[in-house]
Amino acid sequence: MRPRVVLVGQLSYFPPVFDSACRAGIDLILVPRSDDPITPARLPAPVVELLPLPIATDPDAALDLLAQRHNREPFDGVMAGNEKVVQFVARAAARLGLVGLTDEAAAVVRDKALMRARLLAAGLTIPDFVVLAGPDRWRDALRLRFPLVVKPTNGYSSLGVVRIDRPDQLAAAVARVHALATARLAEGRPVEVLVEEYLDGVELTAESIAHQGTVRVCGVSYKSDMPGPYFEETMMRAPTRLPADVVTAVEHEVVAAHVAFGVTDGTTHTELRLLADGTPVLLEMAARLGGAGVMHHVIHAATGIDVAAEALRVHMGHSPEYWTKPPARRGHGAAFSVPVGPGGRVARVRGLDGLRDDPRVDYVIGNMVHPGDVLEPYPNWSAYPGIVLSHHDSDADATAFHHYLARNVRVEYEPA
Ligand code: ADP
Ligand code: CA
Repeated sequence: MRPRVVLVGQLSYFPPVFDSACRAGIDLILVPRSDDPITPARLPAPVVELLPLPIATDPDAALDLLAQRHNREPFDGVMAGNEKVVQFVARAAARLGLVGLTDEAAAVVRDKALMRARLLAAGLTIPDFVVLAGPDRWRDALRLRFPLVVKPTNGYSSLGVVRIDRPDQLAAAVARVHALATARLAEGRPVEVLVEEYLDGVELTAESIAHQGTVRVCGVSYKSDMPGPYFEETMMRAPTRLPADVVTAVEHEVVAAHVAFGVTDGTTHTELRLLADGTPVLLEMAARLGGAGVMHHVIHAATGIDVAAEALRVHMGHSPEYWTKPPARRGHGAAFSVPVGPGGRVARVRGLDGLRDDPRVDYVIGNMVHPGDVLEPYPNWSAYPGIVLSHHDSDADATAFHHYLARNVRVEYEPA
């Protein structure tokens, strides 16, 4: 029988992960997100079963249902498909005797304040920071050096992440981020606000695979400049143009962070900034595929490493194939996320359709917003209007393509 992995909360219309599972010969049991329009009649190819679970509303019941399903007919692994289910998946793996994170490691990677504390204790470079239990504590952050970044401790997608340059902006920024986190990210607990010093430098991401405590970085990619005050991600490309010794320093930092966080198994997406003197400084780590598989595509196209397939293998208890059989380098991978821009009521997303025939384009993920939807601008982000995943012969071509997309693909809003 073919191996089976339960993939929890992976959006069904992000195809790269499903294509990886097909290539690897792994069947998937998909636990759909509540906002996923998937139906049993239209499943991605490797999905053999839909298993809805009430993870957000009743995680204990969800765990029982998953255990019952496992008892009926065991599966080989369970893997997180989005940030919010990382802790649930860790608990599920532990209960079912499958590969996963410890509860403790899962809690650390879901909390930016805990990550900062762990990095500090491990002696790694971090920006000075303050954790605020409530908005009235904002004066505690006045001792930091401006500019500062104010953000929720448990966020994602740059939701509620704000840069401020002056002390007179602090009270309002903390109140705003706290209110947004309370409304959008509370998860039944009191929210905290993290304030930290702004790191000036290019932003990098690293996609890694960990197996029984050994960690290897699959690839490092470059993100377009994000000076703030809000941090909408639009372009990612790999490999970077950085010298090999700088990439090695980034890899060392990323591996050290896995140790500091106790992340021993699975795949991770780590974000860093590179200071002017070449020091890599971690922003955060997510214990899942980056961008629901978007970063897997970028690294796969660049290095030939099938990050998503390796992640599935690790969750089945197998060692990663690329550790013993490194693939030949392929070229350049790229991802473009259509900017939300000013937000409003969507009239149309212009410029995506013609891209499907471009031989460099591998995927156009475009059914996330529809005419009539209301999109909130950053920092109140609510949805991605579209994503273009491509491959290129050179970084110059990838960069030129991204500049073309930036000029030609956009959300058009109805007149206010
Ligand atoms: P999220 O989980 O919402 O993505 P991040 O900590 O990754 O939160 O912050 C989102 C973005 O904000 C980052 O990608 C980065 O561009 C910017 N950012 C966050 N913290 C800092 C910082 N200390 N210095 C500079 N930029 C930061
Ligand atoms: Ca991030």
